[in-house]
Amino acid sequence: MKKPFVTLEQLLKIVKDYPTPFHLYDEKGIRENARALYKAFSWNPGFKEYFAVKATPTPQILKLLHEEGCGVDCSSLTELMMSDRCGFRGGEIMFSSNDTPAEEFVLAEKLGATINLDDITHIDFLKNTIGYIPQKISCRYNPGGTFTLGESKEGFQVMDNPGDAKYGLTRPQMTEAFRRLKELGAEEFGIHAFLASNTISNDYYPALAAILFRTAVELKEETGAHITFINLSGGVGVPYRPEQPANDIAVIGEGVRKAYEEILVPAGMGDVAICTELGRFMLAPYGHLITRVLHEKHIHKEYIGVDACAADLMRPAIYGAYHHITVMGKEDAPCGHMYDVTGSLCENSDKFAIDRMLPKVDIGDLLAIHDTGAHGHAMGYQYNGRLRSAEILLCEDGSTRLMRRAETPEDYFATVIWE
Ligand SMILES: *Cc1c(COP(=O)(O)O)cnc(C)c1O
Repeated sequence: MKKPFVTLEQLLKIVKDYPTPFHLYDEKGIRENARALYKAFSWNPGFKEYFAVKATPTPQILKLLHEEGCGVDCSSLTELMMSDRCGFRGGEIMFSSNDTPAEEFVLAEKLGATINLDDITHIDFLKNTIGYIPQKISCRYNPGGTFTLGESKEGFQVMDNPGDAKYGLTRPQMTEAFRRLKELGAEEFGIHAFLASNTISNDYYPALAAILFRTAVELKEETGAHITFINLSGGVGVPYRPEQPANDIAVIGEGVRKAYEEILVPAGMGDVAICTELGRFMLAPYGHLITRVLHEKHIHKEYIGVDACAADLMRPAIYGAYHHITVMGKEDAPCGHMYDVTGSLCENSDKFAIDRMLPKVDIGDLLAIHDTGAHGHAMGYQYNGRLRSAEILLCEDGSTRLMRRAETPEDYFATVIWE
């Protein structure tokens, strides 16, 4: 059973101040989860989570994570600018971008961010852009082929295709890159890889860590590079479906520790810091899209029309992603009705749910669409002149704080040159 982090009673108060639709975030959940992550990796003195800004580029959320000890992982100019304005400094910023414009390397260098190179040609591109190679630098590794983990006891499998991914350097390029970076003056090296997305498995990070740790030992032997950090990147998932088991971050941290002690420690590399760049795992479950039912429509199927649309949450429309829906106040009612829950875009893919069994829905009901805290508002757009909604924080003390107002038509027209 998936339960919302907010009650109907609380919501009825919130909607008096803020019209639906809006994204609501759970401060308590975000903080507790960040603390659980730090506890799971407390065995590693240098551990740091660099929150993937693209998942939830909301300054007050970034500041809250900063208070919990997190840095940020940026991949664009505006993400760098936002992180700077939020007070992240130097080593708290990871810059993991690809197909990078020169001006972004310039700003990353100016802010003192740790630069993670996506390609071997970026060594010279960076050197020509900023005039030198930073003392601390990282390279993104792409081992190619397919990445699979055996089926877990719950029957979920992890499978992804690094060989089809545009990111990173090949294994021989990693050796060549480290040699060249060393010649150009780099002293501290990092290795990064992102092999699978939204994994529901406690084995993903440990398996990835083992690959990166072995690669680190080889690279040290081949090139003499001093490897000081290994970046496990994102990819730890969340259970969007109610029947999926949640990842256990304590078990994941312990799995990475085992690989660390088996591979890095015997190689004299027991001082390597572990980094993560989690996005989804840090935020997704701690956001709900709150929307009100406007219409019921009975044609060839039963439709429930709500006041949110794919402009507020794109994942169902573009990936057919499942997002659980709770009809607020009807949590315990039997799910005896089958509906398509739709938004208003003139696009037939604008459906939050298809053939979903729900309690009987009535006009005026409030729906909580779950797991929208990451890659939710962030992927919003303005198609059909539907504007992006507000973002509100449900604070630990039960009060609310507006973090981003809803867009107005004036925002939509602001970039137009009328004649
Ligand atoms: C998207 C991204 C992440 C975060 O991924 P999640 O699946 O949200 O954890 C981390 N690092 C990089 C480089 C990314 O592009």
